[in-house]
Amino acid sequence: MTTRPATRMLPALLWLLAALPALALAAPAPAPAPGGAPLLVIHGGAGVDPGELTAQEESGARAALAAALRAGHAELAAGKPALDGVAAAIRVLEDAPMFNAGRGAVFTHDGRNELDASVMDGATGRAGAAAGLRRVRNPIDLARAIMERSRHVMMIGEGAELFATEQGIALVEPEYFHTERRWRQLQRALRDASQPHALESTAPAKAYFGTVGAVALDAAGRLAAGTSTGGMTNKRYGRVGDAPIIGAGTWADARCAVSATGWGEFYIRTAAAHEICARVRLSGDAIAKAAEDVVNGVIPQAGGNGGAIVLGADGAVAFPFNTGGMYRGWIGADGEPHVAIWRDEELPAP
Ligand code: ASP
Repeated sequence: MTTRPATRMLPALLWLLAALPALALAAPAPAPAPGGAPLLVIHGGAGVDPGELTAQEESGARAALAAALRAGHAELAAGKPALDGVAAAIRVLEDAPMFNAGRGAVFTHDGRNELDASVMDGATGRAGAAAGLRRVRNPIDLARAIMERSRHVMMIGEGAELFATEQGIALVEPEYFHTERRWRQLQRALRDASQPHALESTAPAKAYFGTVGAVALDAAGRLAAGTSTGGMTNKRYGRVGDAPIIGAGTWADARCAVSATGWGEFYIRTAAAHEICARVRLSGDAIAKAAEDVVNGVIPQAGGNGGAIVLGADGAVAFPFNTGGMYRGWIGADGEPHVAIWRDEELPAP
């Protein structure tokens, strides 16, 4: 009796082919690599251009980046979760007045500081965010408390600050955030905006943004991401950017973690942080390719600019940006901080 195995197997083969995309989508995340060396990557914003910093400001910024890396790494080296490393690093950057987050945040159109922050835990998919804060000293702590101690993901303004008080999170007087440098930036922005034809130009000048962020991979192979910002100079009261929006300025899953910096409206419209990780998850893109294609492709094509830090569960790192500089750095197995600011500055890969 003649058997025709190929013909008989055809329906099964066809089913398999049709089902492949669905099977790929449902593929479990790569198993974490317990026992690996932790890795922490940070940024202090993409809104810096050569010639803008005095030598003293530049060395101060480098020292603050190194201090943030050391603080985050100390948590990770002690075996704490990625989220602890992210929060510790961001707290140092929020307290450093040269970065646009916490103390040193930029001013709104009406001369106030309104702060936004978010965190996401890649291992559990949980997230927390806060926006429009005027009195929370370290917004990243509040974002984390919202994730861990409330049933919500995002809280804003007075309600968020009331929750901060209930949780014992430090509040300060609004003047705490005031720095002369940012005040002068607002005055310049107001003057520029009053020039004839100002409305025709929609692009904000380079120094109008900043933001800080961190992504970490802990010894158990878990990823986390966080971002904190004062937003953009001369933003209208109540404006919320991408930094506290999960999927826009911050994202972490089992494979990929992102913190973004740049012209927030474009990061929101393109769901940039999520878009990068979705390309890794669904298309199998390498971290570097996904990061490059979104930050230097999708965002400029939409009319925006900025940068991001991206970290993969395999330890792959990318720092794409399209401005003159982005404060950035990483720290890995040897506990030595590596930092860079300018576009043409080499930053060795981990
Ligand atoms: N992305 C932030 C925002 O639009 C600003 C920044 O990155 O500096 O609020």
